[in-house]
Amino acid sequence: MGNATYDIVILGAGIVGAACADEFARRGIRVAVVDRDIVGGGATAAGMGHIVVMDDSEAQFALTRYSQQLWQALRTELPDDVEYEPCGTIWVAADEEEMAEVRRKHAFYTNRGVPTEILDAQRLRHSEPNLRDALAGGLLVPEDAVLYPPCAARFLMQRAQQHGAKLFLGSRVSAFGEGHVRLSDGVELTGQRIVNAAGACSAELTPGIDVKKRKGHLVITDRYPAFLRHQLVELGYLKSAHSVASDSVAFNVQPRRTGQILIGSSRQFGAEHKEVDQQMIVRMLQRAQEYMPSLSQLSAIRIWTGFRAATPDKLPLIGPWPADPSLFLATGHEGLGITTSLATARILVDQITGAKPEIPIEPYLPSRASKEHAHA
Ligand SMILES: Cc1cc2nc3c(=O)[nH]c(=O)nc-3n(C[C@H](O)[C@H](O)[C@H](O)COP(=O)(O)OP(=O)(O)OC[C@H]3O[C@@H](n4cnc5c(N)ncnc54)[C@H](O)[C@@H]3O)c2cc1C
Repeated sequence: MGNATYDIVILGAGIVGAACADEFARRGIRVAVVDRDIVGGGATAAGMGHIVVMDDSEAQFALTRYSQQLWQALRTELPDDVEYEPCGTIWVAADEEEMAEVRRKHAFYTNRGVPTEILDAQRLRHSEPNLRDALAGGLLVPEDAVLYPPCAARFLMQRAQQHGAKLFLGSRVSAFGEGHVRLSDGVELTGQRIVNAAGACSAELTPGIDVKKRKGHLVITDRYPAFLRHQLVELGYLKSAHSVASDSVAFNVQPRRTGQILIGSSRQFGAEHKEVDQQMIVRMLQRAQEYMPSLSQLSAIRIWTGFRAATPDKLPLIGPWPADPSLFLATGHEGLGITTSLATARILVDQITGAKPEIPIEPYLPSRASKEHAHA
C-alpha cells in the first residue's frame, strides 16, 4: 500500500476506533484506520462487555444511556458471534446502607426513564440462587446487556470496510501531526483530520492528554450453564471504581452465552506490566466467593489482564484537541468503552460534520482538560 490521502485517519482499531470508522464510512466520509496489532486486540479484547447504564454524573448517564440505546437499535444486525444478551444487571446490596443506595439509584433512573426494579432479599435469592444468604436485596436494571467485545469491534470494522474504509494493520504509528501520520513500515497517510483512538496508549501518541493506564484482571471459568442469569455487581463496586489512591477489587460476575462465568474485577494505577498479579487474583476471587460461595467449586480456565484508559474526571475525551486543529480525540473511556463506543462515534462524527448531536457534548470536550503540550 502506498501513501494516500483521506478525510479522516483513525489511530487505533479497538472498539472505539472501529465504531468511529463505521460512523464515518456510513456517512460517506473517506476514512483509514491504522493499528499496530489486530482489530479489537487491545483493551477491547480484555474487557468484560457489560453494556451498562451508569449514574455517577449526569454526563456519564447521558453517554451510557444514549450508547446503550444505540446498541439496542443495532441488535438485530449483530452477528451471532457478538453474543449480545439482554440479561440485565443486578446491583447487589449487602446491607441496609446499600439498600439506601438501591433506592437512590432507583429514583435516579426512574426520573430519567430507565426501567428498574427493587428486589428484596427473597426476590434477589430467587433471581440468583447461587448468591449467599443474608444479602439485603438489589436493583434490577433489565435493559443492561452483555456482548463479546472483540467480535463487536470486528463487526463494526467490517461494516466500515463495506462502506469504503481502509484498514492498515501490523504497523505502529511512529509519528503524526498536522494531518500527517507516519507508520513504522514507512507508509505515510494524510488526513484532513486525525482521530487518536489509541485507548490506554493515547497519551504516548499525544503527550499532554491526561489519560493514565488502569490495569484490570479477569478470570473465566469452564462451562456451567444456568449457574448465573444476570450480570451481578456489588454496590461496593462504585466505591472501588471511584478510588484513585489504591488497588481495589469488587464482586462483578457475568454469564456468557457459552455457559462460562466471567469473574471480575480489579483496578490498579501504576501497574504498567501485563503479567497476572497473583495477589490481585486471590483478592478478587475471595471477594467473589464472599458473595457467591459456590464459585469456589468451578474450574477457572483462563486469567488475563488489560488496561483501561482513565481520565481524572472519569469522563472520556471526545472532540478536538486545542493544540492541533487537525487532531481529534476519542479516548479515556476507562471501564465503559464497550458501552460508550457507539455514542462516542456519533458525537465525534457529529462534531466533525457539523451535525447536531443528540446529547450535549460539552462534558466530553478535551478542551476541559487541556494542558500545555506538544504531540509526537
Ligand atoms: C478488565 C477490564 C474490564 C472491562 N469491562 C468493561 C465492561 O464490562 N464494559 C465496558 O463498557 N467497558 C469495559 N472495559 C473497558 C473497555 O474494554 C475499554 O474502554 C475499551 O475497550 C476501549 O476501547 P479503545 O478502542 O479505546 O481501546 P483499545 O481496545 O485498547 O484499542 C486501542 C488500539 O490502539 C492501538 N494502538 C495503540 N498504540 C498504537 C500505535 N502507536 N500505533 C498503532 N496502533 C496503536 C492498539 O493496538 C489497540 O488496538 C473493561 C476494561 C478492562 C481492562
